[in-house]
Formats: sequence, structure tokens, C-alpha cells
Amino acid sequence: MSEERSLNFIEEIIENDLQSGKYETLITRFPPEPNGYLHIGHAKAICLNFGLTQKYGGYTNLRFDDTNPVTEKTEYVDSQQADIRWLGFEWKNELYTSDYFEQLYKFAVQLIEAGLAYVDHSTAEEIAQTKGTPTEPGTDSQYRSRSVAENLDLFTRMRNGEFPDGACTLRAKIDMSSPNMLMRDPIIYRIKHAEHHRTGNTWCIYPMYDFAHGQSDSIESITHSICTLEYVSHRELYDWFIEKLNIFPSHQYEFARLNLTYTVMSKRKLLQLVNEGVVSGWDDPRMPTISGLRRRGYTPESIREFCERIGIAKRENLIELSLLEFCVREHLNKTANRVMAVLDPIKMVITNYPEGQSEVLIGENNPEAEDKGGTREIPFSKELWIEREDFMEEPAKKWFRLAPGAMVRLKFAYIVKCEDFVKDENGNVTEIHCSYIPESKSGEDTSGINVKGTIHWVSAAHAKTAEIRIYDRLFTVESPDSEEGDFKDYLNPDSIKVIKEAFIEPYLADAKQDARYQFIRKGYYSLDTDSTPEKLVFNQTVGLKDAWAKAKK
Ligand code: ATP
Ligand code: MG
Repeated sequence: MSEERSLNFIEEIIENDLQSGKYETLITRFPPEPNGYLHIGHAKAICLNFGLTQKYGGYTNLRFDDTNPVTEKTEYVDSQQADIRWLGFEWKNELYTSDYFEQLYKFAVQLIEAGLAYVDHSTAEEIAQTKGTPTEPGTDSQYRSRSVAENLDLFTRMRNGEFPDGACTLRAKIDMSSPNMLMRDPIIYRIKHAEHHRTGNTWCIYPMYDFAHGQSDSIESITHSICTLEYVSHRELYDWFIEKLNIFPSHQYEFARLNLTYTVMSKRKLLQLVNEGVVSGWDDPRMPTISGLRRRGYTPESIREFCERIGIAKRENLIELSLLEFCVREHLNKTANRVMAVLDPIKMVITNYPEGQSEVLIGENNPEAEDKGGTREIPFSKELWIEREDFMEEPAKKWFRLAPGAMVRLKFAYIVKCEDFVKDENGNVTEIHCSYIPESKSGEDTSGINVKGTIHWVSAAHAKTAEIRIYDRLFTVESPDSEEGDFKDYLNPDSIKVIKEAFIEPYLADAKQDARYQFIRKGYYSLDTDSTPEKLVFNQTVGLKDAWAKAKK
């Protein structure tokens, strides 16, 4: 966790409410619409809602806000639950707005009976035309003054399926000249002959968001209903329904949504990327979804820490993706074992090491971990793979790696000196010949030689192979949503790079699905879900340093 921080504005409200005795038990909810996979923006809302009841007691409900039968699926319900649990939270009750359809219908009847709702046969265009503008009042619908009896009859017939889609709506009778456009007789029920993922064909009328959300909060006695700033103007309507129906007074509070650079964050847009094959699925490691981040190797701790650091504010801003990367790097630095993998191999032959001999060296797994993560065995032999970029035929100034005549330490092993190298007919270096200094073994070095560079390596005779996938930002601009044209015009064509055959130390052959590793000098990696024992596949979670921060300077 990060340092002590001051209370955010919602915590202040809650502390006041609990102190004044306004509520005894804090009840919050997380209300996703099951129309896609959850993303990092949802993680912010999850950490906030569940975090508050962890801190102040009470509980949090998980409510699927499933009032739109056309876009919702059980697959999404399942994935959303799995993602919340993976983040480390557990809800008290699993609830569905659709479970309240009968109760919501009764609330609508109650409004009609009170003369506060009417059935309107105007078309969508007519309703839009008579809404007025923010500076001009709207005009009353010709159906506004229908009798209660007529409205009750028509609403029953709407429910019974006597009208086709769009033939009529139920509207709240509020104020056609309200300065708040949402108060100008909002539609509260519409006809939709569509199968619902839970209620099947029981209903052909469905409540609108505004008529479902607050009332569902009220049914569950939610004390603090927290949503994003787009809903500020809905609050008046939220309160109006609760007052007119005389039900439990839940209160709505709004905070700034999370916007993150180099990505988009709406389920609708992410669905487009999935449907159009831009990415391999909702859990593509480049996606800002929780499942994508998980597959990429992010830890729940790092995402929670990120949400903690960005805080809760009342004004929108754009958070740097590099902050999220910083958080995972920081967590993995403490928890990931250090291992060796060579991504762009070139052969190194140790000329004075006996042919056919090998030995086992001991590697410390994680010097940053409290228990050092234990140790492991690393085989060493005459022929090694090293990184092509660690050799320079004509070394630059301050080059501390390999070059003709230069010495480096092989991590966990010996100091070697480059004696010679071999080139093919095209002038490419194919092999590097070194001698090693037997007294320079790591941990028991008596050679007295100091070298500045340490490089990683893998014994060629013992190496396993793996595919390595390295990712970059999905978009080339910070805010694809606010650029001209379609957000997909700004996709980064180089957002994935695949190394078909890298060499990894044999210890990694037993890599576990949830384990994360630091490939020394390369970055943090974890197994991809495509990986099999026969064909290992690793994803780069994040590099060791912020490559972009450097490139931008
Ligand atoms: P999307 O457009 O991505 O579907 P949404 O707000 O329509 O977003 P919901 O499933 O309705 O998605 O959201 C569930 C909860 O998550 C809501 O309370 C919403 O306010 C919150 N939420 C959604 N996106 C963000 C975000 N970017 N930052 C913070 N909270 C968010
Ligand atoms: Mg939504």
C-alpha cells in the first residue's frame, strides 16, 4: 500500500453520515451492465465501492444492471464475476435489476395512479422535437393529459404485448420547461420484443436506466450510490422518483471516471475491436480489460495500488498509462523470480572449458524479496547463447559489454574474455569465442578482476525454447477518442511483436500459469494462456524501464 493519504471526498461524506447517525450500516453496490468485459475503469469503481465497505464496515452488492435485453449475455455476467474476484473482492449479494422487473412495474403503476406518468404514442422523433432546447422550454405531448384509468389500461396492454416496438412509451409527468432536459417528461418504459438473458420472453417492456437504477438502489437500501460524473444531471431525476414513490432514500454521488492514455475505455468500443478481429479477444493482452491485464501478467495487487494512487476526484483528467506500468513493475520487482532468457541469440563458445563437461551453478531467485525467493540450479557448459546486442565488433565509448579483447561477467557464473569471433559470408557475426577465468565463479571469486558489465546467458545444451510476445501501446495517440475521425484510425500497427524461438533456462520449463518472472535485463514475463508444455509461450508484462518516457524526451 502507498503512504498515508488524506480522505477523499466520498470518505468524508461517509464519515459524516456515520458520525451523525444518518445511516448505521454502509451499503454500496457495483452495478455493471453485462454487455462486455470489465476494464481498468471498472476496476477503479470496484476498488472504490468495495474498498469503502472494507474500510467502514457494511457490505457491497454486485448488481447486474441488465435492463437492455439486446446487448446482454450470460458470458459477460460470468466474466465480470471472475474479474471482481480476481481483483480480490467479494460481494454480499449477487443481484440482477431484472429480478426487480415486477417491482419496477409496480412502481410505474404507482406513478400512473398518482397522476405522475402517462402513455405517450408520439414517435421518437416527435418526442425529440417537442423536448425544446436547453434555452427554450419544450411543449406538452398531446397525450399528456390522459386520465389515470386510460393510462393504466394502456400500460397493462403494453405489458401484455399488444403493441409493436416503438408504438408507445411510458413517460414520467414532470416539467416540460425544466432547465434540466432530463426532467422534461423522461421516458421510463419502452417496448422491446426481445429475449432477455434471464427473464426470457416474460417481458416485452423494459425500464429505462433512470427508472431502474435509483429504485434498485432503494430496494437494496443502498446508502451511497456512487457513479461517474456523466450522471450529475441525472441526480435530480433520481431523487424525484425516490421522493414520489416514497421509498428508501438512497443518495447518488459522482466521481471522475478513469481515462487512460493510449487506449479506449468503453465496452462498446472494445467490443468493436473484438468483433472486427483487431485483437484476439476480450482478453487480448493489449486490451485495457481486467482479463487482458491478467493474461498480460498484471497482478491484482498492482491494479489495486494503481487505483489507490490515482485517487478519487470530482474533475475528469487523463491518467498516464505509464503509471499503471510503474505499479506493476514495482510489485513484480518485489515478487518475481529473476531468470535468464535470450531473445535474440548468438552463440558463445568458451574455448578453455572442457568439451562435454557441464556444471550446476546456483542462482538466487530474487534479491529484492524478503526471503530472497530461494535459489535454483542453473546449468553451465562450453556453449552458451547470449544476446546478439551484447557484442560489438567495434565498441562505442563506455561500452562495458562484449567486444574483442573485452571482459564481462556472465550472471551467476564466470568472468569471460572475448578472444575472437566468426563472421558468415554476409559479414554477420555468428559466433563469439571467449576464454573463462575459472577462479572468478560468482560467490567464490578469487580472481581479483573487476569488470563493469554483466550479461545474461543460457547454456545451449540445456536451453528450452519458447515463443515470446512483446506488446506495445494499442494506439499511437494519447487520446484516440478525442481525435478526428474513427478511433480505429489510430491503432498502432506494431502493437505486438512475436519472437518465435527464444532460448530460456531449463528451470522455466516448469513455469506455472500464475507465476511471473523477471527475465534479467529484459523485463517481466508470464506464461500466456496459449502456452502448452510442448510449446511455451510467454507474454511480456512490462519492460524494466519506461521505454516511452525516454523516447518522448
Ligand atoms: P462502458 O461505457 O465502458 O460500458 P459504463 O459506465 O456504461 O461503461 P457500466 O457497466 O454501466 O459501464 O459501469 C459499471 C460501473 O462502473 C458504473 O458505476 C460506472 O460508473 C463505473 N465505470 C465505468 N467506466 C468507468 C471508468 N472509466 N472509470 C470509473 N468508473 C467507471
Ligand atoms: Mg453502461
